[in-house]
Amino acid sequence: MKYLDLVSTYEKLENTTKRLEMIDHLVDLIKITPTELIDIIIYLTLGEPSWIGKPEIGMAEKLAIKTISTSFGVPVKKIERQIKKISGLSSEKKAIDLGSYVGTLKGKKQMTLIKPKPLTISQVYSTFENMRTYSGAGSQERKMKSLASLLSNASPKEAKWIIRTIEGKLRVGIAEMTMIEALAIAFTDEKANKEIIENAYNVRCDLGYIAKELAEKGILAIKNIKIQIGTPIRMMLAQRLATPEEILEKLGGKCALEYKYDGIRIQAHKDGEKIVLYSRNLEKLTEQFPDVREYIQDIDVNQLIIEGECVAYDIANNKFKPFQELMHRRRKYDVDKAKEQYQVKLFVFDLLFLNGKSFLNESYLERRKNLEKLIKNNGISTAKSLIVDSPSPFHEFFDKSIKDGCEGVIAKSIQKDSIYKAGARGFLWIKFKHSYQENLGDSIDLVVVGGNMGRGKWAGLYGALFGAIYDKDTDLFKTTCKIASGFTEEVLKTFMELLDPFKIQEKDPRVELPSEIKPDVLFSPNIVIEIKGDEITLSPTYSAAFGEFRENSGLSIRFPRFLQIRYDKNPEDATTTNELIQMYQNQNKK
Ligand code: AMP
Repeated sequence: MKYLDLVSTYEKLENTTKRLEMIDHLVDLIKITPTELIDIIIYLTLGEPSWIGKPEIGMAEKLAIKTISTSFGVPVKKIERQIKKISGLSSEKKAIDLGSYVGTLKGKKQMTLIKPKPLTISQVYSTFENMRTYSGAGSQERKMKSLASLLSNASPKEAKWIIRTIEGKLRVGIAEMTMIEALAIAFTDEKANKEIIENAYNVRCDLGYIAKELAEKGILAIKNIKIQIGTPIRMMLAQRLATPEEILEKLGGKCALEYKYDGIRIQAHKDGEKIVLYSRNLEKLTEQFPDVREYIQDIDVNQLIIEGECVAYDIANNKFKPFQELMHRRRKYDVDKAKEQYQVKLFVFDLLFLNGKSFLNESYLERRKNLEKLIKNNGISTAKSLIVDSPSPFHEFFDKSIKDGCEGVIAKSIQKDSIYKAGARGFLWIKFKHSYQENLGDSIDLVVVGGNMGRGKWAGLYGALFGAIYDKDTDLFKTTCKIASGFTEEVLKTFMELLDPFKIQEKDPRVELPSEIKPDVLFSPNIVIEIKGDEITLSPTYSAAFGEFRENSGLSIRFPRFLQIRYDKNPEDATTTNELIQMYQNQNKK
């Protein structure tokens, strides 16, 4: 298969913002892709799952520019000028991205040269794979050489997309959910089958693998997808309701309550001696938590997947420590020192897999019973729990959880159908937090999609950020408010660094930004922040949940204040349209 087949799909995707058209183009691509290449096509388009922990294909922009400069004989400064808008120069031509610029250079050069033979997908991908493996001394030169050689054999269009891939900025507006829908149509002619594929992806979080299974064995095999120990399972999430009464009613009058610990969620995989720890957004945390690794190692079974909340903890005095202490444990250097200084404890709350048997489809009580049998040592406890069937013990257990230093409780269904629903935010788990007693109960997680520069003491930093929620149905990020308070100078400095790689010239195709809003800087959706507001309000400006409650109005957040950066969340883990709608309804019931 030619790389141009993929490139021409990218070009079509780039030229439309209509989701249905995008899906059509992807379906056409999938249909012409031979089975043996289907996973590669998915990886080239979406990127490889980050939990695999492969080194990035890419190279720093500076290095790519240096390669291009040598290959095409254009000075580095000139390239930089072309791809960066220089403010204040109104005569400056519109800046273009590096990929498009290289495409143009190549076009000019090619007129005088013999046309190169089209590249194949395998050729391009294997060059990328080789580039990943270079490390240590001389690796930069080797990377540059590989890229230069690929570019010299590329047509202008191919060159453009090679560079964009290297930079990790395809900008074609495709993410997992859109690809899943395209796979359903391409392989089964039935859009509704996207649910089966999504469920499989939830259990085995590698879309390249799922697509290959689908191509080789069909939808039935996908329906029966098995857990693969070591491959993360997308985590089950909790809904929220405003009162214990409502929660009890929703859960059939009786439920289990568990303390809601305030830490970071960990999914631990044990396969004999091998332990892997995954965070909420399925990044590997194995290196950072050698103590948790040891606790898991001590559990006397061969194969295991369990989940729990890892909290900062003073082990000698049996006391919770502030959540912020955990941040010191995220770094990858001086791990042993950090382990002593910032102790942690794991409170486990679910069992997903044990010695070859999946527990996903077992009921809550069955999972809990088996979990309790396993957990015996000091570093790990099972989450404190109680079964209740009326509001009064609910309130008592909740008050106790707050007194003990937790955020509240998670109520869990104990009905027959109370399975572990991977990747789903349903009403089998319902959170109830201390903060719900205030007006706008819960905090909200937003994806940062734009920023305004600060003034006065914050000149040179972002003074305000634009936040968006995630709309799963359309796979888009919808802007909902501007956050300008709750920041400290230190945080704003962190944002400068953190957001810099995601700066873009033109709006990301997956972001819906109302035309009235004109941020100074745009970002592709990557960084998630937690905020708290006073109230959810109807707004004619913002497009979140547009038209849901009033014609020509969306939902916005009044007086949003920044709380913290959520390093553990992916953009798709931000608060969703449905959650915001639910929060608006809950608020209006009070
Ligand atoms: P939230 O992040 O506010 O949506 O709350 C859900 C999170 O609470 C989960 O993802 C876990 O990280 C955390 N959590 C703490 N204790 C528990 C528990 N007992 N059961 C489930 N989740 C818990």
